[in-house]
Amino acid sequence: MILDTTRLLDADALHVWHPYSSMVGAPPVYPVVSASGVRLRLADGRELIDGMSSWWCAIHGYNHPVLNEAVRAQLAAMSHVMFGGLTHEPAVKLAERLISLVPSPLETVFFSDSGSVAVEVAIKMALQYWIARGEEGRKKILTIRGGYHGDTFGAMSVCDPVTGMHAMFKGFLAEQLFAERPAVRFGETWREEDLFSLRGHLHVHQKEIAALILEPVVQGAGGMWFYSSDYLRRARELCDEYGVLLILDEIASGFGRTGVLFAFEHAGIAPDILCLGKALTGGYMSLAATLMTQSVADTVSRKGEGVFMHGPTFMANPLACAAALASIDLLLAGPWQSRVVSIEQQLRAELAPCAGLSNVADVRVLGAIGVVELNHPVDMHSIPGRFVDRGVWVRPFGRLVYLMPPYVIEEEDLRKLTGAIFDVVSRIA
Ligand code: PMP
Repeated sequence: MILDTTRLLDADALHVWHPYSSMVGAPPVYPVVSASGVRLRLADGRELIDGMSSWWCAIHGYNHPVLNEAVRAQLAAMSHVMFGGLTHEPAVKLAERLISLVPSPLETVFFSDSGSVAVEVAIKMALQYWIARGEEGRKKILTIRGGYHGDTFGAMSVCDPVTGMHAMFKGFLAEQLFAERPAVRFGETWREEDLFSLRGHLHVHQKEIAALILEPVVQGAGGMWFYSSDYLRRARELCDEYGVLLILDEIASGFGRTGVLFAFEHAGIAPDILCLGKALTGGYMSLAATLMTQSVADTVSRKGEGVFMHGPTFMANPLACAAALASIDLLLAGPWQSRVVSIEQQLRAELAPCAGLSNVADVRVLGAIGVVELNHPVDMHSIPGRFVDRGVWVRPFGRLVYLMPPYVIEEEDLRKLTGAIFDVVSRIA
């Protein structure tokens, strides 16, 4: 370390803003000096088993030799080049690879640099689609409560209105349409009445709606809620019935997290527009992609202005594309599906005792995601530190204490994570 730890933390507190935090009286942060496998190494030498995959993206763990080598090789060729008027092999290969993994109507890829921007691109694409078709009145996005799609204004407008603090930005934030959050859980028997709210909005606002946007099956940062794949299947049917585009945001759920490569596979459907991010590069670099059908791409390209109005500076960054290609190859070459199944079984077995604690409202598991929902919010000043004291990295939010470990985690390390959750949650009961 170049700075000593005390000086680093002082400077951090003085100058550096952390996610969703205040510059005054913020909870402690921990200096990380390196990471390898599923372990984060702190400046004081302590090692933490990572239960978060760095916000759900480091699926292969850290410092992976294959990913390191892919980035190193690309670095030797070029780290970045503009994408306007130029192209390069990592981007083209990655586009082909992504298209080979998703259902056939999705044939075109727009690269961007973060999940939020991938969602902005998806929304803009949907609006331009309808403008090109002469239906200028379709300027609303329909979604469900409890969602999370990012922090930029377009993405934020389709996040849950309460947890997304829409009241604070009223007057600036676009006002969208919100159906009720699906009540039928993943794996439960389907009840058609769960769809009434969505159908009602489509019926009343049909000609104003450009697209329905959903996180397929798993609502992540909006509440870690796993809803019925039948809801998703029926939502696709309703979009077809009412002539509305379906945007699926797989940024959190994609690349195996729910036990299938993409969560929409649980419903056997395909979206018109698909957003990917997070685990796309195995957590190595910031990269996202918005995929769309040939019909959407053609309509936007051939009619109206004929161009899609977006083009980030770091679009299709070669280093990030190289990391993504290596990450996807690594995932597909390995036993990811059986790894996710084992993690799921272990999470189910080892988090189940939490359900008996007086402060626990619900315990749910899907794929490599385990959630313990408390009946009170977690104190972020004290709780992360209790996990650190137990040698694990778990970062709850709201009332949710959850695990999304790297797929490579060993049984014993996962047991330390689940054990720490039981221990910490039972002590605050
Ligand atoms: N969509 C979903 C489903 C997400 O979980 C996230 C990030 N948590 C985003 C979009 C935004 O991605 P980013 O933070 O990379 O902008």
